Amino acid sequence: MPTDRKEIRKLLKKVRPTPRIETSTTSEQKVDKIAKHFEEIMKILGLDLRNDSLQDTPRRVAKMYVNELFSGLNDNTFPKITTIDNEMKYDQMIVARNVGIMSVCEHHFVTIDGRATIAYIPSKKVIGLSKINRIAKFFSRRPQVQERLTKQIADCLELLLETDNVAVHIEAKHYCLVSRGVEDTLSTTVTSDLRGDFKRLPHTRAEFMNHCHSEAKMF
Ligand SMILES: [Zn+2]
Repeated sequence: MPTDRKEIRKLLKKVRPTPRIETSTTSEQKVDKIAKHFEEIMKILGLDLRNDSLQDTPRRVAKMYVNELFSGLNDNTFPKITTIDNEMKYDQMIVARNVGIMSVCEHHFVTIDGRATIAYIPSKKVIGLSKINRIAKFFSRRPQVQERLTKQIADCLELLLETDNVAVHIEAKHYCLVSRGVEDTLSTTVTSDLRGDFKRLPHTRAEFMNHCHSEAKMF
């Protein structure tokens, strides 16, 4: 069970990587640098930074990038995960439905807004329910393509749970298709990564896909 930083780094190294370069820049330094560059972008666009509504925008954007939208680029923000031994011998699928996905498309730096259905069939380990949401959130907080995001969540769960019986399905709206380009406000993109029994066994696959396609009834 990864509890310390070293263990977490080891685990994250095995997850499909986001193309990154090593940097020793601290979060504060990143905010300072990005704010300076964003100020330039705004000036190039012809905005008057002396205006009191605009003057704090560069720093606001920089903080939002580093501490919120792209916090998942910092491995230290990986959530504290506890897995417990599956003493109850639970052997059916556990499904987290309607997991909110809020990410940023790495091609245009605009919002990807979606929801995921994430499932696994435990072998030796069971994971706290909210941890599934936290893992999805961690990888969402990076510039992403939906295909990679789907795989990263599945890789991470497979490693933590020590079973390949995991499945991830994401349906999302890409605002780079809504606000620009084809300007299609209705289309969504679906990706999935079904592994182990979810891939092999038609009835397990069907049960999972049924969860993906049906609305949550309780709320
Ligand atoms: Zn895009």
